Amino acid sequence: MPRPRGAPPPTAQTPLVRTATRAPRWVVVAVCLVLAGATAGAIGLTLRADAARTAAPRAGATATGSPSTTQSSTVAPTTEPTRTPTKAAAAPSTGVAAASATPRPNPCPLDPPYAGPIFVTSTPAASGDGSNGRLPASALARLPSWANDPMGTPQYLRPDAAAALVRLNDAFRGRFGSTMDIDLTYRSYPDQVAIRAALGTIAAKPGTSRHGTGNALDVQEWSCIYGFGTEKRDWLVANAPGFGWVSPSWAREGADNPEYWHYEYVA
Ligand SMILES: [Zn+2]
Repeated sequence: MPRPRGAPPPTAQTPLVRTATRAPRWVVVAVCLVLAGATAGAIGLTLRADAARTAAPRAGATATGSPSTTQSSTVAPTTEPTRTPTKAAAAPSTGVAAASATPRPNPCPLDPPYAGPIFVTSTPAASGDGSNGRLPASALARLPSWANDPMGTPQYLRPDAAAALVRLNDAFRGRFGSTMDIDLTYRSYPDQVAIRAALGTIAAKPGTSRHGTGNALDVQEWSCIYGFGTEKRDWLVANAPGFGWVSPSWAREGADNPEYWHYEYVA
């Protein structure tokens, strides 16, 4: 959803007061999915496979995000057991939790407390037809634990995207002394179905999100750390392309749908 017309562009001095700072996170995530889907469709991404995941409340986030580690830079093939939802809409495997979900701690004082539904990265299923959101586990790689979200949810990306992210994170850690704070990566088709059912057309049409292809990520929506005009955002925009990760034009500051947290693997 476009930023409200007439809203002044965010600056480093006046941190971005994006839609997310006024609306529940689910609105923002939905928008992200819509945009990612549009982008994916535009470039004719190959659509692929099936997955699911168990919802869990967000908790345990710290003001500084995930601690820096010296963990192996390798990415492991996924070996998660299949979790086949019996009814995607009735029993979503997603983090589309109840509205009473635990608010996510946010270290940025200007970001309002979050109290909306919870979204987490999907766990890939053992099998899938390879279409968007239905990638089999064998087509995805699980990121090292530094990339887990604050609740400990593992992150999954296409193997080449995952390997590139590990290298990017190594450079990021070398520059800032801490790892990147990853929020969301792969999203399954069933999870998108559930989100669409919960949110309506504001959510991406299932099967169209770039997250469903395993080559998109969201960093934590912490505007004072990753928002437009921040040192880390500027560093990522300047350096991530060297690792195949980019901030797409539609997500840039001043674009109709600025999403400082969204990056895509394009190599
Ligand atoms: Zn995204």
